[in-house]
Amino acid sequence: MTRLTQLVIASHNTGKVREIRDLLGPLGVETQSAGELDLIEPEETETTFAGNARLKALAAARVSGWPALSDDSGLAIDGLNGDPGIYAARWAKIPMVEGGGRDFDMAMWRVWDQLDQGRKDRRARFICALCLAYPDGTTQVYEGKVEGEIVWPPRGKKGFGYDPIFQAIGDNQTFAEIEPVAKHAKSHRADAFAKFLHDQFPDG
Ligand code: IMP
Repeated sequence: MTRLTQLVIASHNTGKVREIRDLLGPLGVETQSAGELDLIEPEETETTFAGNARLKALAAARVSGWPALSDDSGLAIDGLNGDPGIYAARWAKIPMVEGGGRDFDMAMWRVWDQLDQGRKDRRARFICALCLAYPDGTTQVYEGKVEGEIVWPPRGKKGFGYDPIFQAIGDNQTFAEIEPVAKHAKSHRADAFAKFLHDQFPDG
């Protein structure tokens, strides 16, 4: 297998791009993000994390001519039958704002409201599908997750998205309170990333 030396990070989400760059850091891979290359983000029309990851990575690989790594991820809450799930970003979409407007304070309130202020089952997991795609259309998907629960009120300023209301099992701090290195050691993205590394960089 040829060693990966260049990658497009097929995401416009600055939080994800930062985390993926942190995780790739030690490997000496040259990266560009979809945002830096002005790539258009395809519509997420699939019904699974893996399907949406695949379409984002393929679109970026075909246009850039580089291998591309995408991330489709979200938060699945037991008391909401797995919602917001693949629609995690859409729950934060600001109505009437074309394109990228997102308000995660609003999305977190929406979660808490729909959980009946915590009367429903708060158990939850972050799920991540990473897809590596090549310009010739070859793809490989790696999935990861981290189990935890929804807490209220939101706590912490680190991280992004729903991090302030997610606490992993065994922790007493949310993903927005712990240091990024601690999140990288246990997150859904880190879990999927470990599988990607094992496959693509077996010798480290
Ligand atoms: P998408 O994969 O770009 O459709 O969006 C996934 C959404 O899930 C993000 O915008 C966040 O709202 C949420 N999400 C995914 N991973 C994380 C994470 O590590 N922390 C907090 N929220 C996340």
